Amino acid sequence: MIPGTIRRACRRLRDPAVRLWKHFFGPALASIPGGALILTFDDDSVADWHETDRVLSPYHWKATFCVSNFEKLGNEERKKLLALQNKGHEIACHSATHLKAVDFVASHSISDYIATDITPAIAAMSEYGLTIYSFVYPHGARNQELDRALLKYFDILRGTVYGMKPIAEHKCFANGSRVVSGLGIDRHYGNELPYLLQVLQFAAANDKIAVFYGHRTHRDDSPELTTGHHTLETICRYAQKYGMRFLTLRELSRDKRH
Ligand SMILES: [Zn+2]
Repeated sequence: MIPGTIRRACRRLRDPAVRLWKHFFGPALASIPGGALILTFDDDSVADWHETDRVLSPYHWKATFCVSNFEKLGNEERKKLLALQNKGHEIACHSATHLKAVDFVASHSISDYIATDITPAIAAMSEYGLTIYSFVYPHGARNQELDRALLKYFDILRGTVYGMKPIAEHKCFANGSRVVSGLGIDRHYGNELPYLLQVLQFAAANDKIAVFYGHRTHRDDSPELTTGHHTLETICRYAQKYGMRFLTLRELSRDKRH
């Protein structure tokens, strides 16, 4: 047998075992019966998110709102974040000042990055009563060294992944690791709604957990970094119709405190 054939045979034997191992023993969920959806929204459009929650409540949806620049938010916005947390949504950390982590650590240490953009955000948000479990990289800029450092502070990290790739090969599904990637659903990313529904269909049929991300939410989706209510309602209706669960990022973790 030639080496390539041996390698392919080994891969075929090994892959199901790896999937099974991750399914039962990985540090985070890789699958869930019936499939699930994690909807995440980045930055600071708190008033819009709060309004969107009113619109999507009939679908019993659940989202993760990933907040940057918490200290610049007004009192009303902070209260709205607490209210969203109290309703079962997760509030995650998206850094104190939205630095691009990879660029910053190219000229500073990782400790400098953590002291500048991570611990101040966790402290400010926690002091206000928000319970922080997850972190979302600004601009999706991450590497393994940053992952290792930040997993000491958070249970789950989320980056980004792009494009309407063949769905079975897409990296927008939870994979048993504590680091996941989200697929953009804002108009800006050009991922069409029928494609997003196919991703959900694949998740439902294969017990996968799809991770999506957007930024501002609004009744129309005309600004680029916005996901409109029509898109969100269609996604939520589809997930509900096919019996998929809504999870938040922290619910991927197998940590006992969840
Ligand atoms: Zn951001």
